[in-house]
Amino acid sequence: MQLNRIGRIQYVEVVFPGSPFSTQGFTTRHEGVSRPPYNSLNLGMNTQDQQANVEGNRSLMARAFGVSQEALVTPRQVHGSDILVINEPNEDYSHFLSVEGDAVITNQPHVIIGVCVADCAPILLCDPDKKVIAVVHAGWKGTAARLVAKTVAGMQSEFGSNPARLYAAIGPCIQKCCYEVDEPVRKDFVQSGIDWEACSEQKSPGKWHLDLAAANRELLLLAGLQAEAIQLSEQCVCCHSEQFFSYRRDKEDSGRQMGFIMLNKS
Ligand SMILES: [Zn+2]
Repeated sequence: MQLNRIGRIQYVEVVFPGSPFSTQGFTTRHEGVSRPPYNSLNLGMNTQDQQANVEGNRSLMARAFGVSQEALVTPRQVHGSDILVINEPNEDYSHFLSVEGDAVITNQPHVIIGVCVADCAPILLCDPDKKVIAVVHAGWKGTAARLVAKTVAGMQSEFGSNPARLYAAIGPCIQKCCYEVDEPVRKDFVQSGIDWEACSEQKSPGKWHLDLAAANRELLLLAGLQAEAIQLSEQCVCCHSEQFFSYRRDKEDSGRQMGFIMLNKS
């Protein structure tokens, strides 16, 4: 993963080997139109930023990748585990913005599917054989709900994907250095069967530091992906205020970056 620029948009580019079929990555906070504290490429609808600025940023992003703003699909994220499947062309995809979901799967080209995040892990999935892509919003709740594994299973059942042939990228998120959590999080992870010892470090009684990316990598491996097919960003959004938004750091003043992926051809 490395910084790249397309049009005005600066983003962490992900290249999946053998797949010229898709374009994907993770946006940074640069070169948008939002004023501080949302400066400047705030792509999240549910912030206190001016709606017109968010719309302007989303339009900038869509145009940079060569599609209309109506073809930039982000569901209404609720920290749940519902998956939106888009399996036919639409004139205008904007109605999906009001559909609740925390993952999107599609086989449709020229549609950017994305999730807006501040600390949560954005995860991209690509099946170069069946030409199917997916994006997942994994905070601790989505991780405990095993949403990324559920999305792999969805690609398998809806489109016949073989997990062993998928590529994945886990984007910049809050890392273990800054992500202190407490008992309710530990309880949910343990109940869900995730190896808590492997993805956390206890700092004091009742306080742990959670490695969200490691937990999701583990879920991807259990879902059948090959270790070498999983890319991981090591950047902590909370440590890097010059580059990324972080809710843990900036609270209500935080904008949202986006993990996104688009099929270039069907
Ligand atoms: Zn950090």
